[in-house]
Amino acid sequence: MTARAADVIVVGAGPGGAATAILLAEHGLTVQLLDRARFPRPKICGEYLSPEAPRVLDRLGVLKTVDGLATPLAGMRIIAPDGTVVSGEYRAVGDWRPYREHAMAIERALLDEALVERVRALPIEFREQTRVSDVLVERGQAVGVEALDRDGRVARLSATLVIAADGRTSVVAQRLGLRRAHRLKRMALVTYVSGLEGCRDYGEVFVDPPDYAILNPVAADRANLSVVVPLDHAAPWSGRLETFFTARIRHLPHLARRLAGARIVAPVSAMGPLAYEVGTPRVGGVLLVGDAAGFFDPFTGEGIYAALRSAELAVETAVGALRTGDCSRRALADYGRARRRVFGAKARVTRALQFVISHRGLANLTARVLARRPGRLDVLLGVIGDFVPPKALVTRHVR
Ligand SMILES: Cc1cc2nc3c(=O)[nH]c(=O)nc-3n(C[C@H](O)[C@H](O)[C@H](O)COP(=O)(O)OP(=O)(O)OC[C@H]3O[C@@H](n4cnc5c(N)ncnc54)[C@H](O)[C@@H]3O)c2cc1C
Repeated sequence: MTARAADVIVVGAGPGGAATAILLAEHGLTVQLLDRARFPRPKICGEYLSPEAPRVLDRLGVLKTVDGLATPLAGMRIIAPDGTVVSGEYRAVGDWRPYREHAMAIERALLDEALVERVRALPIEFREQTRVSDVLVERGQAVGVEALDRDGRVARLSATLVIAADGRTSVVAQRLGLRRAHRLKRMALVTYVSGLEGCRDYGEVFVDPPDYAILNPVAADRANLSVVVPLDHAAPWSGRLETFFTARIRHLPHLARRLAGARIVAPVSAMGPLAYEVGTPRVGGVLLVGDAAGFFDPFTGEGIYAALRSAELAVETAVGALRTGDCSRRALADYGRARRRVFGAKARVTRALQFVISHRGLANLTARVLARRPGRLDVLLGVIGDFVPPKALVTRHVR
């Protein structure tokens, strides 16, 4: 069966896909949004939202809803391997101001459902339980997708442009041969804990190479606990994750002390390897947003913001290309340039931070330097929080 052609098919209705669909619909384009899941659906995540994410959520018309569901986080507390504690806050650095002077903690099922609710309120053809199985390419140009509905019926759906927002297992990226393994091989173990003393308005990061762990208070008496470990340490325990998880926590002394008296209140979920790379499409008619375009590591907690921001950039390029009727690879190349401009410097900072947190001595030294110069940590949090440009780390003189 071949259905009517849309201007754009968006594959995946997570933050990247929902944002893309909403922005395209606001431009008056016809959009089909397809997701294999039925919402609300769970998603393994640290559930931290960077302080710039509210700007995009506001633009999408969901910030009020999200404000009612999220816990505001004034800052982050980092505990180094030797126990040095440094705290930083999300506040203006010179003229650079965050959209909100706090980050947020919010359960993904709630955040993603808020976005999907907005999708449902707009003239978007949203099909849940529709799994895209292939991308259709003719003469070097993507022309649609093949999808299976919940009854297993196959449909070929056509569009002038396909935007892949189907996350880390992106079928579109795989079918186009763009996905590559990354040499950083880590696994995340995620659960929730209750009964934690004083875990309310700060995220807490425990650095203890080769692991790190993050506590993020998503609701009253409920914190997301994510522990990231080398993949080969966790792999032999795949059938006994809870045992591995509990034992591993005992090896992180500062985290173990922090968790004394708390209890794990949800099954442990695992995901790994976390990092992978995705190349630029070699065909026209296709753009990749969010995790479908690649992922590094959740340490700096910016995947959701990157998905939302890349949706904005993709829509800018898509609208221009659809207006001129040219969705060739060359016409869409602007998007890659915009991504490099917006994410390039930050990605280098993220990689440098990974180096620091992978080396015990360096992590301790950095924490001690930051403890003496708290203003520096605010700048770093501003960079991680996407409202301070990375160059400020070298040009801005703060105590
Ligand atoms: C352990 C871990 C912790 C993280 N912690 C944080 C954090 O604290 N803060 C943060 O900002 N980011 C975090 N991230 C990253 C963040 O989760 C992602 O960057 C974000 O979800 C990307 O959004 P997306 O819309 O691109 O993809 P997703 O949210 O993964 O959405 C993809 C959608 O596509 C659908 N889909 C997939 N395949 C198909 C198909 N074949 N057909 C149709 N639909 C399909 C899925 O059902 C899903 O709804 C974390 C990631 C991991 C792994």
